[in-house]
Amino acid sequence: MRKDKILVIGSSGQIGTDLILALREGYGAENVVASDIRKGSVAVTEGGPFEILDVTDKEALINVIKKHDINQVYLLAALLSATAEQKPQLGWDLNMNSISHILDISREGYLDKIFYPSSIAVFGSTTPKIMTPQRTIMEPATVYGITKQAGERWAEYYFKRYKTDIRSIRYPGLISYKADPGGGTTDYAVQIYHDALTTKHHTCFLEKDTTLPMMYMPDAIRATINLMEAEASKLTVRSSYNLAGVSFNPEEIANNIKQYVDGFSISYEPDYRQAIAASWPQSIDDSYARNDWGWMPEFGLDEMTQDMLKNLKERLKV
Ligand code: NAD
Repeated sequence: MRKDKILVIGSSGQIGTDLILALREGYGAENVVASDIRKGSVAVTEGGPFEILDVTDKEALINVIKKHDINQVYLLAALLSATAEQKPQLGWDLNMNSISHILDISREGYLDKIFYPSSIAVFGSTTPKIMTPQRTIMEPATVYGITKQAGERWAEYYFKRYKTDIRSIRYPGLISYKADPGGGTTDYAVQIYHDALTTKHHTCFLEKDTTLPMMYMPDAIRATINLMEAEASKLTVRSSYNLAGVSFNPEEIANNIKQYVDGFSISYEPDYRQAIAASWPQSIDDSYARNDWGWMPEFGLDEMTQDMLKNLKERLKV
C-alpha cells in the first residue's frame, strides 16, 4: 500500500499552524509538507518540509504534488468571511479557483483523499438558527458563504460523479492560541483573551447577545483528523458535516474570563461584522458527525478559557 504523503495548503494560518503539528506527530514530519504564500511559525516552516506555493497557480501546485509524491491534500487557503466582504472579487477567485484546481488534479489521478473546510457561513438568515440541521435551507448572503456552499456542492458532485474521496467539515468559529485568526467574523473570541491578558479591556465588534457556534482548536483538529481517517463506507455526508462545540455570546465569554482575570472589562462597538454574525446559526445539530464517525466535543467554555489563558500567557510572556 502507498504510504500517506500529505500536503497542507495554507499552512501558515490559524488552523494550519495547529494542524501541521498534529499531522506531523501522527504521520512523521517528513510525510507532511506545509505550504503557503507566506512563511508561518518556525515550527511549521522548519519542523518539516515547507514550500512557498500559490494555490491559484495550478502548474506550481502539480509540481509540488509530484515533487513530494503527495496523495492527500488538506486545502486550507481561503479568504475568510470578514476579509472577503472587503474584497469580494478576490474572495470569489481564491475560494473557487483553489477547490476547482484541487478537484481537477484529483481527477487527473494524483490524489487519494482531500480535506475541504467549509463553514457555518454556508447558512443564511432564512436557515433555522437553533440546532441548525445538517440538511436545511441554505441562502448565504456573504461572498465567503456563497463560495463555501458552492465548494460543498462541487465536493459532493465530484464524489458522486468521479468517486473523488473528498471529506469536509462546516467549522464553527475557531478559538486558538498558537496563531492569530485570519479575518473571520468570530475573531473577537480570540482577541478577547489577548486583551484580557494585556490591556484588560476588550472592545467587541459584535453586540453582547450575539450567540454563535464556536469550538476550541484541539477539538477541531481532532475532528479533522478523525474524519480523514474514518472508513469511507461509514461517511453518509459528502457535502460537508455539521460540527458543534460550544455556543456563547460576547457577554457570556467575558463573564467567564472575569472569573480568572481581575478587573477585566468589555464594551461593545458593533461594526459591519454584526450583520454577518446575525445571519448565522446560534447552535448546530451535529448528529450525522456523531453517528457516522464518532464525533464528540471535549471542551466547553470554561475548560477552553482556562486552557487559553494558560497557554496565551506563555506565548505572550505576560
Ligand atoms: P487563515 O486566514 O488563518 O489562513 C489561511 C492561509 O491561507 C493563510 O496563511 C494565507 O497566507 C494562506 N493563503 C492565502 N492565499 C493563498 C494562496 N493563494 N495560496 C496559498 N495559500 C494562501 O484561515 P484559517 O482560519 O486557518 O482557515 C483555514 C480554512 O478553514 C479556510 O478555508 C477557512 O475558510 C476555514 N474555516 C476557518 C474557520 C475559523 O474560525 N478559523 C471557521 C470556519 C472555516
